[in-house]
Amino acid sequence: MAKLNENFNNLKKNYLFVEIAKRIKAYSEQNPEKAKNLIRMGIGDVTLPLAPVVVEAMVKASREMGVKETFRGYEDSGAGYDFLREAISGYYKSFGADVSADEIRVSDGAKSDCGNIIDIFGSGNKVLVTDPAYPVYVDSNIMSGNDVIFADSTEENGFAAMPDKNVHADLIYLCSPNNPTGSVYTTEQLEEWVSYALENNAVIIYDAAYEAFITEDNVPRSIYCIKNAKKCAIEICSLSKTASFTGTRCGYTVVPNDLIQKDSKGNDVRLAEIWGRRQGSKFNGVSYPVQRAAEAVFTPEGQEQCRENIKYYQENARIIANTLDELGIKYTGGVNSPYIWLKCPNNMDSWEFFDMLLNEIQVVGTPGAGFGKNGANRFRLTAFGTHEKTAEAMERLKALLKK
Ligand SMILES: *Cc1c(COP(=O)(O)O)cnc(C)c1O
Repeated sequence: MAKLNENFNNLKKNYLFVEIAKRIKAYSEQNPEKAKNLIRMGIGDVTLPLAPVVVEAMVKASREMGVKETFRGYEDSGAGYDFLREAISGYYKSFGADVSADEIRVSDGAKSDCGNIIDIFGSGNKVLVTDPAYPVYVDSNIMSGNDVIFADSTEENGFAAMPDKNVHADLIYLCSPNNPTGSVYTTEQLEEWVSYALENNAVIIYDAAYEAFITEDNVPRSIYCIKNAKKCAIEICSLSKTASFTGTRCGYTVVPNDLIQKDSKGNDVRLAEIWGRRQGSKFNGVSYPVQRAAEAVFTPEGQEQCRENIKYYQENARIIANTLDELGIKYTGGVNSPYIWLKCPNNMDSWEFFDMLLNEIQVVGTPGAGFGKNGANRFRLTAFGTHEKTAEAMERLKALLKK
């Protein structure tokens, strides 16, 4: 009999989106007419299409694949073509982070690398995750049998947890701008995390999937904008939210050449080396047309076109934020993020508030409880809808709560 990985028994049931779907279905069956006006503000997926230059590049590359002279098979290194890695390196420079092309590996997205990166670490690490958090950080560590400890993101710290000097960690997951809370770390706050990591000889795994949504000056677009971060941090990024690549699939992970840890015998190990070995053994690279499409994102034209989409979402976030301000509801996010994380009114818990919005105004959001215990009376709204639907949902919310 094959022995199974029984760590899977320790995973929390994937309850959130299943339960949401179940409640929407039940409501729709009982109220078929009203259900026609349902507005979904729970989506964590982009809705605007790929930029025209991106599509053009992908089509052109696809045609090359059909011609003997320009056809490409396996990529030599599987780390990503130089043209793309150079483009990403240039992008980092544009916001003041020094990342060389050879420190970057192209991937099929941030989620897989967030999980895969665990392969280069041994067992027995103390893994620190902020609560609430994007579920993959916790789930992938539970699958590997690691101990996960939490740093609380609460109203007091603006839903941006800070390090506790009395608690030791070996691995630290940070996400800024944050999903689900929309909060961000400022330069000073990231400096504090970097010095905590260096003091603990810990490694930060920094998820920057929403960096393109940053609008404020003192909020770094990369952890490598912080001094000494290259000695302690891995950064994982994605074109999913930046450039509508959720269905196209492309991301990149940076493991700096300066990131060195000691093995149990006291020898220096360059993490980039074992990550390269891991990827070389288990991953064969991203398709050529997708890498050409990704390259186009980093051209001036691509940047301009992608920014148009982001601006569209940011306008939705502004509509939501203004409504909550008017209603006197506390929230984080919306400024540097497509997410708004609000406090449920009248001390409702997040599922009660979910039911109220569904039943009374046919608006669907995401209960905060699904992202960790500190989400128990919080609710996530997303800015990925249309202006019209977002504005309509906010009108309904005002009418409901001003009653
Ligand atoms: C959407 C998202 C990602 C992107 O994942 P991909 O696999 O690249 O699509 C990564 N991290 C967070 C926190 C996200 O919300």
